[in-house]
Amino acid sequence: MSDLVIAYAQQQREKYLNDLIEYLAIPSVSAQPQHKQDVNRAAAWLCDHLRVIGMEARVMETGGHPVVYAEWLSAGANRPTVLVYGHYDVQPAEPLDLWRSDPFAAVIRDGVIYGRGSSDNKGQHMAHIKAVESFLAQKTPLPVNVKFLIEGEEEIGGPHLGAFIAANKQLLACDVIMISDSALLAPDQPSLLYALRGLLYFEVEARCAAHDLHSGSYGGNVQNPAMALAQILARLKDEHGHITVPAFYDAVRVLDSFERAEIARIPMSEQQIMAESGASQVFGEPGYNVAERMGARPTLEINGLWSGYTGEGAKTVLPATAHAKISCRLVPHQNPAEIYKSVVEYMQALTPPGVSLSFKVLQEGTRGTLIDRDAPQIQAAARAAQATYGKAPIYVLEGGSIPVVNDFQDVLGKPIALLGFGLSSDNIHAPDEHYPVRCYEKGIEASIRFLTEL
Ligand SMILES: [Zn+2]
Repeated sequence: MSDLVIAYAQQQREKYLNDLIEYLAIPSVSAQPQHKQDVNRAAAWLCDHLRVIGMEARVMETGGHPVVYAEWLSAGANRPTVLVYGHYDVQPAEPLDLWRSDPFAAVIRDGVIYGRGSSDNKGQHMAHIKAVESFLAQKTPLPVNVKFLIEGEEEIGGPHLGAFIAANKQLLACDVIMISDSALLAPDQPSLLYALRGLLYFEVEARCAAHDLHSGSYGGNVQNPAMALAQILARLKDEHGHITVPAFYDAVRVLDSFERAEIARIPMSEQQIMAESGASQVFGEPGYNVAERMGARPTLEINGLWSGYTGEGAKTVLPATAHAKISCRLVPHQNPAEIYKSVVEYMQALTPPGVSLSFKVLQEGTRGTLIDRDAPQIQAAARAAQATYGKAPIYVLEGGSIPVVNDFQDVLGKPIALLGFGLSSDNIHAPDEHYPVRCYEKGIEASIRFLTEL
């Protein structure tokens, strides 16, 4: 069945491209108030588009930018239901002078679509919409029920989506959530993300005096908070990069042999990290390769560090305070609240007399996520990817976080297929964002096969 539907999608090539180009022309920049009308216009355009292809669709309020919800449930109650998630909002296009063409008048050059949102994320969720259209347009019965939830606040941290999902549990009920908001590992190497890291973010202040002091009058008699904080921070890791906070690694999962074998297939090398970062060598926990350190091991990093006088010229000040921003990327099973408590207690224990530390959480901690690779829904996605790209997908432990995945897991409790259609070289969030036409078309095919396999 999927072959007939794919053949139809190929005939519609031109139209499907034009639809995407029309969608990309709407500057739905969620972060910029001057684009509020455009954000609403993108939601309305998408809602209309989903109706035109034969779905029931509506724009729903969230308290912030609206979500677009659509459904086609005529496969019947005994068939599975897929919920496709995506986001219609885009990053600001600035700096505009670094674009070779207008970010909101998408053009195709050498088989590549250039435009803001082409890869992140309009071009990726449109692939699923076009897959559904390809079934419905030629009256081929869709083998499964399909729901779409396309939101407008992903690029601003999704302030309202968690509450929306919790409040609409029945509406969104499904058997699997499909999210295409990531990248293939190479043009013909699909991946399925099955673990995401969580995040803990806090700030610490070290104080030694009521106010800044003259370093000639007080230096030598009063603790320097910058020095004290530096000494405390320096003891959070050993010289090899192993984190020394007690109990920090207690909940870290040991990878099984399948996972280690999969990690070995990931095309990622020390040379690549050096080339991309400009670092003269890689540095990290001994006993793990770069891909393992990225996805399977937790981190503790200083994100900001300041104290005293940082302006031009000399100022002989003995500062009263010193500050650091610190974050930890956490792996599945590590509890953000417990890790935070361990780090704070350890830093307090390292604090010398005359110094007081105070802490502030900057972002509510998010847990890491682990998805059951063996769930039949995920296996359906794996078969669809293999048939489309000619290679079995690599199961990847992702280093970053996708907060909505936790919301889906907590509220809907179903497996989440994280199958990306873009490429890591697509310049998302940057000037000249692009998306190869081939990625779009392969995405449509993969989606058609997924719906069939399911
Ligand atoms: Zn993005």
